[in-house]
Amino acid sequence: MNHTYAYRESSLPGAHPEKETEDENRDDLDHTGEFQTQLERLKNATIMMVDDEPTTTDVLTAFLEDAGYWNFVATDRSTEAIDLLEATWPDVLLLDLMMPDVSGFDILTAMRAHDKLKHVPVIVLTSSTDADTKLKALELGATDFLSKPVDPSELVLRLRNTLTAKAYQDQLAYYDPLTGLPNRRMFMERLDWQLKNAKRDNQKVALLYLGLDRFKQINDSFGLRGGDILLKQVAQRLEQSIRESDYISRSAPGEAWTNLSRLGGDEFSLLLHGIQRVENAALVARRIISALEEPFHLEGNEVFVTPSIGIAGYPNDATERDLLLKQAVGAMDYAKQKGRNTYKFYSKQIDANCLEQLTMQNQLRKALDNGELLLHYQPEMDLESGRVIGAESLLRWNHPSLGTVPPNKFIPLMEELGLIGPVGEWVIHEACRQNKAWQSAGLDPIKIAANVSAQQFRQQNFASALQEALKTSGLDPRFLALELTESIIMGNAERNIDVLHEIKEMGVTLAVDDFGTGYSSLAYLRKFPLDELKIDRSFLSDIHANSDDATIVEAIIGMAHTLGLSVVAEGVETEDQLAFLRQKGCDRGQGYLIGKPCPAEEFSSMCLQHNTVED
Ligand code: C2E
Ligand code: CA
Ligand code: CA
Repeated sequence: MNHTYAYRESSLPGAHPEKETEDENRDDLDHTGEFQTQLERLKNATIMMVDDEPTTTDVLTAFLEDAGYWNFVATDRSTEAIDLLEATWPDVLLLDLMMPDVSGFDILTAMRAHDKLKHVPVIVLTSSTDADTKLKALELGATDFLSKPVDPSELVLRLRNTLTAKAYQDQLAYYDPLTGLPNRRMFMERLDWQLKNAKRDNQKVALLYLGLDRFKQINDSFGLRGGDILLKQVAQRLEQSIRESDYISRSAPGEAWTNLSRLGGDEFSLLLHGIQRVENAALVARRIISALEEPFHLEGNEVFVTPSIGIAGYPNDATERDLLLKQAVGAMDYAKQKGRNTYKFYSKQIDANCLEQLTMQNQLRKALDNGELLLHYQPEMDLESGRVIGAESLLRWNHPSLGTVPPNKFIPLMEELGLIGPVGEWVIHEACRQNKAWQSAGLDPIKIAANVSAQQFRQQNFASALQEALKTSGLDPRFLALELTESIIMGNAERNIDVLHEIKEMGVTLAVDDFGTGYSSLAYLRKFPLDELKIDRSFLSDIHANSDDATIVEAIIGMAHTLGLSVVAEGVETEDQLAFLRQKGCDRGQGYLIGKPCPAEEFSSMCLQHNTVED
């Protein structure tokens, strides 16, 4: 009797994701075709048989092989059935009822009390025509019956029905409908199972946790539907790269990547088992990163998506599932902090880092109430006259122990914590108040710009809150500008057009911030009532070394002017850049060359001095 211990991927509930996804154009198949493929897929099911008569299992195997099945695990020792079931986790069990020592009833009873085995369908083999026996088996959760001696066509029919029903249930319970990938639930069960096997066989497992960088921006720009389309494409690209990696990274027999799953949102995970060194995971991480380098196509736009990947290993980093997962997530967050589009292994250092983040979160919640937030101001110079005619307000956090924290460190955190609403409102109030105070003190009036975050802008009462800030401060609206990024403007275009018109009617200036980094075009932005364009500083950084950028900047200036928009260049750091911008007719400049962001008092004296010199 062959006593096979074949631990196969495909023996898991809702099995065979790798097989299922081979036909990538599943959507295009007509329904008959799809049905046929589904039936074919059932043939990969892991079928386990427990019967004390080895000849019975041999006969069953022969029948089923004729019908196209191939993946069998059998035992004639009922005492070992539960252990073998746990290790195999089959798609279906063919179970003899009458066996010495441990009967089929005992096995059924044990299975139904077992966390994972309780959902495995069981077809009971019985020579008994006794109704009571069948009833008892049914009560114990048997799925179906087969009479001995087994009739081959009936066997195949019953098996197919059972597997089809199970596949359908699995699909609902274990797969993500959007990408077709295994879902979190399946992933967690598999992780459990892999760790258990690894413990038993003294093996290593690596867990990769992958998040897409700035995916929120995609959703902001293209809406949830656009985001979904992209996620689907990303999932396909990931699958492909992992399939290829399987050949490349496999340095030991039995080493394999499996279980690419979508855990929700833009987060995916992947397991590597049977490995010698957890470091082998880096190969696949790198491969995934390069697989995502090519742009995706979304509604006629080229969209770039990068991943941040965290890796944690069993047993070195953790031996428990939840801890391992937590560490991989921590490593991913760390990768994001370290600039994204990269991978990081878990280390104790990361825990310390997380703790710091956590403390920071708590402190940030109190920052506004504690008066720790303040605005710095950076001058905007009119390139023709050389005078400072405006300023951008930039948020700073005066942290009790860390000192001045730059916005990139805490604004994303504030958005996550949902704090940006009240803080953003405060920024506008404070900018208006300060500007009015300067005017009252007799300074030449300048225009102050406030940055607006996506969340803030999306709030229902955004326009009325703005109105309120103008009223409270008494500032003339023409001395206030709002800076919005392209993605904010593009997301939910219909609603935004209305809100922007409302703001414009108040007399407030509207500027597009970081222009050139998003997915919009000037032609598209025409739909919105905008006044100004701020060219992102990345275009300016090597304007001379790179003539492409020079051409782009020149073209943006030209087109913006044609559309009646004035142009501000950000990040002016050298005299050469300034000369170039002047020559190309750019309206205003902002950057370290002209002035760094500084506190209000410093700004006003700098401004006074600068403009006196210019006069
Ligand atoms: P931003 O709106 O693009 O602001 C310009 C950033 O470029 C500022 O960084 C500024 O200090 C920096 N910068 C200015 N000139 C130069 C230069 O010549 N060279 C270089 N390398 N950098 C220059 P900062 O203050 O760290 O702000 C970063 C970002 O944080 C801002 O980018 C903006 O997106 C965001 N932010 C700042 N304040 C607020 C706020 O009140 N609300 C919101 N929602 N976001 C804000
Ligand atoms: Ca800005
Ligand atoms: Ca900017």
